[in-house]
Formats: sequence, C-alpha cells, structure tokens
Amino acid sequence: MSAEPLIRIEDLHREFAMGDQVVHAVDGITASVDAGEFLAVMGPSGSGKSTLLYLLGGLDRATSGEIWVAGQEIVGLDENALADYRRSEIGFVFQSFFLIPTMTALQNVIFPMVFAQVPVAEREPRALALLERVGLGDRVRHRPTELSGGQQQRVAIARALALNPRIILADEPTGNLDTKTGAEIMQLLMQLNQEEGRTIVAVTHDPSVTDYATRSLHLLDGHLTDSVDHNLHRYSQKVEP
Ligand code: ADP
Ligand code: MG
Repeated sequence: MSAEPLIRIEDLHREFAMGDQVVHAVDGITASVDAGEFLAVMGPSGSGKSTLLYLLGGLDRATSGEIWVAGQEIVGLDENALADYRRSEIGFVFQSFFLIPTMTALQNVIFPMVFAQVPVAEREPRALALLERVGLGDRVRHRPTELSGGQQQRVAIARALALNPRIILADEPTGNLDTKTGAEIMQLLMQLNQEEGRTIVAVTHDPSVTDYATRSLHLLDGHLTDSVDHNLHRYSQKVEP
C-alpha cells in the first residue's frame, strides 16, 4: 500500500474565454506527485505548462476539477484560504526572476516574511542563511541590477525558500540564462530536492533535465501525453542483512 501522494490532480480543466472562442489551456489532467519528487513539466509552447503550474500554486483558478495538496483541496478555497495555502506550502520561481529592483538581495528575501508574521528578529538571520545556502553570502547588499542573471535567480530561489515551503514551483527557471548558468541553477534546485527533500515541479525545456529531475510529465494541447520515470535513485537503499 502506498502513501497518499503530496499532490493529487483530478480531471483538471482551465478554460479561457477569448471573444467567442474558448481556449482549453488545461484540458482534463489527472496526475499525482509524491513528496520528494523533482518533476519536470515539458511540452511545446502553448501546451498548458504555465497554466498547470499556476493552478497548482493557487495563483489561478481551475474551471473544474480538484487539486489535493497534503490532504487539502485547493480549487474550492476562498481567497484568504488560498493565500494561506500559497504562503504555507509553495515557493515560486519565475523565468524573469521578479525581484523588486529597489531592494537589496537581503530585502528581497525578507519581503515574504513581512506578510507572514515571521518575528522581526528572525527575518534577517533567516534571509542571510538562505542567501548563503544559494551561494550568495557575499552579495547580500547588492541590488538586482548589480547582479548577474544567475545571481538574480539565486536570490529568487532564496526568496522562494523564505517561508520554508514543502513545494517549489518553477516556471522555466533557466529560460533567461545561458546554458552554463542554467545548469548551475538546475543543480541548485536538485540540491534542494536531494538534500532538503523539497518537492519540485519545474517547467523546463532543458534537454539534460533527466540528469536533475526524477520524472517528467509531457503535455500537449492541455493534455498529459506521457510520464517518464528517470530512474534516479535518490535515497540509498538500506540492504537488510
Ligand atoms: P505554456 O506555458 O505551455 O507555453 P500556457 O499555459 O501559457 O502554455 O498557455 C496554454 C494556452 O492557454 C495557450 O493557448 C495560451 O494562449 C492560453 N492562455 C494562457 N493564459 C491565458 C489567459 N490568461 N487568457 C487567455 N488565454 C490564455
Ligand atoms: Mg509557459
């Protein structure tokens, strides 16, 4: 008997009305994600990857269907409960970083803590530790314009970790980075998965994704077409004597 998956998606639909047309961005997806997986979401442009990720993260509302996360159904939540869900379970990483340009790296990482009632005295030490964790301990007073793209994405990852989420959702996190820097960012996400057990769902076009992710979901026209296990053995198996 297997445990309940961390995320369970049931017949999920998201439709957009465009004039007299209806776009079926997510068109009946059923899938689940176990705690500790690093799931890559792949598929051509327009296949529904971002929409699926936003629905999972409670940034968008499904038209119908269910999303169960840690035993809670989120499609039916009201705005306040959905905001609580986002704060407590989810860290987001976007292609274009979305850092606040007037704030230092440190202030950007502290920012989510301000709205989550993290005690004032804990904020800076926690943010410093997170920036250290992502390899930016020597850049904490820099503003985004004073950082490279890869460094900005590291700040965004530290910010995503600010409230210690179980789940990290990343929408093409390497899309604005060169190949080498992109690989470093994927390595960092992989470390957060392997070393801290964070569950990661990342939309990516990275051809070497099988080196990082434990499984990939393939989308086409809002449908799930394939789920490919990468056979990465993450946990050392204890051999019984
Ligand atoms: P992907 O991330 O795989 O490129 P998206 O999830 O962004 O795809 O989009 C899937 C489909 O839904 C596309 O046809 C897109 O044009 C449409 N779509 C996405 N968001 C909206 C929106 N806010 N309004 C109208 N159509 C949208
Ligand atoms: Mg997209």
